[in-house]
Amino acid sequence: HADEAMYAAKSLGRNNYQIFEGSAQQSQQQNLALKSGLRHAEHKGELRVFYQPQVDANSEDIVGMEALVRWEHPELGFIGPGFFIPLAEETGLIVSIGEWVLRTACRHAQEWERRYGLGLRLGVNLSAVQLMQPNLLEVVASALEESGLEASLLEMEVTESISIKEAPNLVENLQGLHRLGCRIAIDDFGTGAASLDYLRKLPADRIKIDQSFVRNIGVDPDDEAIVRATIEMAHRLKRGVVAEGVETEQHMQFLRANQCDELQGFLFCRPLPQPSFEKLLQERQSLLAGVSGTAA
Ligand code: C2E
Ligand code: MG
Ligand code: MG
Ligand code: MG
Repeated sequence: HADEAMYAAKSLGRNNYQIFEGSAQQSQQQNLALKSGLRHAEHKGELRVFYQPQVDANSEDIVGMEALVRWEHPELGFIGPGFFIPLAEETGLIVSIGEWVLRTACRHAQEWERRYGLGLRLGVNLSAVQLMQPNLLEVVASALEESGLEASLLEMEVTESISIKEAPNLVENLQGLHRLGCRIAIDDFGTGAASLDYLRKLPADRIKIDQSFVRNIGVDPDDEAIVRATIEMAHRLKRGVVAEGVETEQHMQFLRANQCDELQGFLFCRPLPQPSFEKLLQERQSLLAGVSGTAA
């Protein structure tokens, strides 16, 4: 694992990555330059999909992964999505970038499924702009068909950044995704203005508790109460719960004690480039083979 972690750290190009997380400091001019670079990033092959494992809260087994896009800028190094996704949304480039991420991630997931057969679920983030596209369902259906990935293994992650009232076809699109057999997760739950409205009106299978709450486990009793109540509410509504940003043993113990279903965070693994993630699966598979080999 040591060299994997190093590879991930190296390919994140930590310093550059940090610079571009501070989007407030970016000047208008730099943003313009980046926007025009972003326009060509996709066909120049500068976009990468990284994968972060999601683990079962009790067994800590890998049960899925989230696809997270990065931009490998020729001069600036790796740029994080927190910085360039907003630019892509402003310019409308998010539609084609999002489609590229979806197709790439489905292909990788199906390849891993074919090789390792672990039944891992793939989470893909959808921007509000994509959710309002009239052809969203065709795009998702074709990504599934082209890759051969089973629809039930694909989970679309949606954030509460738009109000349902402003986007009437949002609900329709999500129902359509369900009809295709995909799952829906509400991402960053608790941070938007309309969390409960989303929960009530959207056909969501899961909630992802935002890392801003998870971070304060052991620090702020109010945030702990919110995490507990969110898990309980999700379960009463027959939805699953994933906690994001799990960084410490204490976070994990608390979430486990409160019946959170799945965990995602640096405590288990950082987002990894495709070859490193595959290595992780290989190790896991040989571990499983070893166990069943001894049992037989
Ligand atoms: P998100 O969907 O909530 O993804 C989780 C973010 O938390 C990721 O940041 C991940 O690297 C980070 N993270 C995971 N575990 C930990 C932890 O233990 N501690 C901390 N501090 N952070 C952790 P990342 O990759 O920088 O992505 C940021 C956001 O950018 C994502 O938040 C998502 O909203 C957006 N994004 C990423 N990829 C895509 C994409 O393909 N399409 C769209 N539309 N948005 C994307
Ligand atoms: Mg997400
Ligand atoms: Mg999130
Ligand atoms: Mg987010």
